[in-house]
This record gives sequence, C-alpha cells and structure tokens, in this order.
Amino acid sequence: MTSVITSITDRTRLNNGVTMPWLTLGVLRAGNATGNAVRTALSAGYRSIDNASVYGNEAEVGQALRESGIAREELFITTKVWNSEQGYDSTLFAFEQSRRKLGLDYVDLYLIHWAVPGKYLETWRALCKLYKDGLVTAIGVSNFQIHHLEEIMSASDVVPAVNQVEVHPLNSQKELLGFCRQHGIQAEAWRPLMGGRLDNEVLVDIAKAHGKTPAQVALRWNLQNGVVVIPKSVHEERIKENADIFDFNLTEEEMGRIDGLNMNRRFGPNPDKVDF
Ligand code: NDP
Repeated sequence: MTSVITSITDRTRLNNGVTMPWLTLGVLRAGNATGNAVRTALSAGYRSIDNASVYGNEAEVGQALRESGIAREELFITTKVWNSEQGYDSTLFAFEQSRRKLGLDYVDLYLIHWAVPGKYLETWRALCKLYKDGLVTAIGVSNFQIHHLEEIMSASDVVPAVNQVEVHPLNSQKELLGFCRQHGIQAEAWRPLMGGRLDNEVLVDIAKAHGKTPAQVALRWNLQNGVVVIPKSVHEERIKENADIFDFNLTEEEMGRIDGLNMNRRFGPNPDKVDF
C-alpha cells in the first residue's frame, strides 16, 4: 500500500474522525533545548509534538506552544502515561499532572506508553473515561504487540486510535502494521531515523537518486506505508530537513529495496519484556 502525502499540512483521519498530522516532532532527550526545538519546528510548519510524562519536559513544550501564538485547534499534542503511573486512579491523576504542565485545556492524543502486564487494561479504562469526559480528543497505545491489542479490544468497545511503535527500515514490523491497518488503528513510528544511524548503503543510494538525504528517505518510506513519523532533532537545519519530505516519491522498486533491509532489529526495548 502506498499513501499519497504531498504536504506538511496533510493529516490522517483516525478511527474516531479526528485528524492528526503525518509529521510530529519528537522531544525525547531534548533537555534544555526543548523550547527552542519546538519553536523552530512550529516555524518550519510542524503542528504536532510527541511528548510523554517521563520525558520531563511537558512544561517547556507547553510554554513554547503558548509563545508561538498558533491557534490551539491547529496544534496536535500527544503525551503518554508512564509505566509507574498506570492503574485507573493513578492514570487519571497522572493525566491531570501532564495536562497542567502542558498548560492545555485538552490533550489531542493520550497514549499508554508501554503495556505493563496486569495494569494496562485498568489504564485503558481510565483513558476511556478521559475521552468520554472530553479531556482528550483521541486515545491510543504505544509499544503494543498484536496480543496486547487483541486483549484490549476484547475487553473494551473503544478501539485504540493509534499504536506508536518502533518502526524504521531495520525493523519494519509488517505483521503488526498489517494488523493495525486491518483494525483501523493508525500506526506511528518512533525512532524513525534509527537514532541517527543513517549510513546505510541502500538509503544513501536512494537518497542520491532523489537529491535527498538518507534521513528524508527513511521518513518518506514510513509515510508511503501509511505510518505517521516522529523524527527528533534539536538542530534547526535537521528539524527543517526532516520536514522536507513531501515533494518526492519513492518508487515501488525503492520501497521494496528498503523493505529488504528489515532485520527485526530493535534499538529500543522489546515490548514483551517490560520490567521498567
Ligand atoms: P530518532 O530516530 O528520531 O533519532 C534522533 C537522533 O537522530 C538524534 O540523535 C538526532 O540528533 C539525530 N537526527 C535527527 N535528525 C537527523 C538528520 N536529519 N540526520 C542525522 N541525524 C539526525 O530517535 P528518537 O529515539 O528520538 O525517536 C523519535 C521520537 O519518538 C522521540 O523523540 C519520542 O518522541 C518518540 N519515542 C517514543 C518511544 C515510545 O516508547 N513510545 C520510544 C522512543 C522514542 P540531534 O537532536 O542532535 O539533531
């Protein structure tokens, strides 16, 4: 399947009708540079920011959003409930903390960060309440495998709108993405730049053919697979580079060559071994 995405303002429609930008700025480990990165990204046309309580920079993100003067309805802000915060009441409490730090009336997307065994169904129940109460416009999960999704969908009548997982050319997760597509769950790729490890021959070669960089090719590959991308950078030139991905198309042959790089290589933890 190839998605046609031609502008930074293009959005995907989630299973509840809410629309979400295809490009999101990541702020994990952005540290003191967080505010500046968010300001730079907003100036470059990004409207979506991916945050999490555990990143420790929700207040900085919130401040940069307010200072931008961009209308609230144009923005799309994600945050996540951390593992130690999970459970019903504790999630409601954690959400309120996040919402206040961000300084928002509502959050666009609230995610369960990892499927903590014995906890995530109760956490999901809390997310459903927040959704019903209008405090979040969409709810979803992160790092959920097929069996986690099946369990949540049999326990609840609300299907997650999004599953944010580690997807990049070395870890294409075809089966999981197929399952998400089949059930109307939008897939979102974290670590889409493989943490900056971009010196791959195939990516370099395809990038040359398009006058683009390997980073742009890796991002475009995800977009054309219908997957939202979250590149992280704190540098202006890279923030702009990572957004300049809407004016070229990878051919079917190039998509196939990139698919061929898959080694099921995770740079982050295995979601079935959450002990943190
Ligand atoms: P990325 O794949 O986005 O890589 C980020 C690294 O690549 C940084 O070191 C950055 O450096 C560098 N970089 C950025 N742009 C370029 C470029 N154009 N060329 C070369 N290097 C570049 O990894 P992340 O782990 O940060 O993932 C992205 C986002 O996904 C996170 O910020 C977070 O929002 C989310 N995430 C979610 C997880 C989850 O469990 N749900 C887990 C991990 C991440 P510099 O900043 O110095 O430019």
